[in-house]
Amino acid sequence: MTGPLYDRVALIGLGLIAGSMSLAMRAAGLAHEITGHARSPETRATVREIGLVDRVCDSAAEAVAGADLVVLCVPVGAMEEVARAIGPHLSPGTTITDVGSTKRAVIEAVAPHLPQGVHFIPGHPLAGTEHSGPRSGFAELFRNRWCLLTPGPDCDESALTRLADLWRGMGANVETMDADHHDLVLAVTSHAPHLIAYTMVGVADDLRRVTNSEVIKYSAAGFRDFTRIAASDPTMWRDVFLNNREATLEILGRFTEELFALQRAIRTGDGAMLHSYFTRTRAIRRGIVEAGQDTDAPDFGRLPRRGG
Ligand code: NAP
Repeated sequence: MTGPLYDRVALIGLGLIAGSMSLAMRAAGLAHEITGHARSPETRATVREIGLVDRVCDSAAEAVAGADLVVLCVPVGAMEEVARAIGPHLSPGTTITDVGSTKRAVIEAVAPHLPQGVHFIPGHPLAGTEHSGPRSGFAELFRNRWCLLTPGPDCDESALTRLADLWRGMGANVETMDADHHDLVLAVTSHAPHLIAYTMVGVADDLRRVTNSEVIKYSAAGFRDFTRIAASDPTMWRDVFLNNREATLEILGRFTEELFALQRAIRTGDGAMLHSYFTRTRAIRRGIVEAGQDTDAPDFGRLPRRGG
């Protein structure tokens, strides 16, 4: 067990990520006190009922008062509103970070509202499920997952080290990178794949009427994993696409070109092209398993899901 790294951690937004952070920090004894605020009275009542944080506050300003670490865990599109509300209540020396899935847009939304003397270190844990809300959190969510931090050039080294230690204490591996680079990498690895899954499930939904629900009945043939991804939170994903527009459009442009090439190979019966393409993609899958980012187990390597 690592000793407490922070005296008071304030979590703004109390859903899957904040809930998992609170449970992981508690399990490893990383904070003396964890305060929290969510927008709706319903969510705050749930968090009180299940005791997810030590103190639930009715305003974000109250939650951040006296905190030495503030973590913004709201959808990307709500970051600016929250930063504006808490900015005047942050003390010099406080570290403020976020867990948003896009980084450049969050930096532009949050930084202008922060007072001098606070350390802003944007972050993004590459861990999640298709579930949301405070009941969906679990302490092991970040274990052996990456957390990417995107500090600016003037970032305070000791604040960065402490935040990285917090993520390591919660089980994550930590890497730092430039915010724009983060957005491009995530467009390839997460954002475009989600859009493709949303599209595929949309297409199948249209076809369902033609195939009398056979799409559902035989879904284990590959479609099922698309449906899991396409069940992800609509607000979160709307905000991701609106806030990582350029990189996502760049990757989708490339995707469309590849799709046309494959379409052409199918039409012209170019089996050699298809075979060599699929051999290349299989090697990528092997690389992911070897990097410990998934298992080779059947059932698409999925373990039973925790949480609701
Ligand atoms: P979530 O489970 O839907 O929780 C979001 C929380 O934010 C809720 O407690 C919600 O409160 C609160 N909220 C929304 N707007 C707010 C506002 N204006 N002021 C105060 N609170 C507000 O979401 P999540 O999955 O934890 O995602 C949170 C962040 O993590 C997002 O930025 C997302 O991009 C990022 N992220 C998500 C994943 C993932 O797979 N889920 C992975 C990595 C990073 P109410 O319940 O009261 O509406």
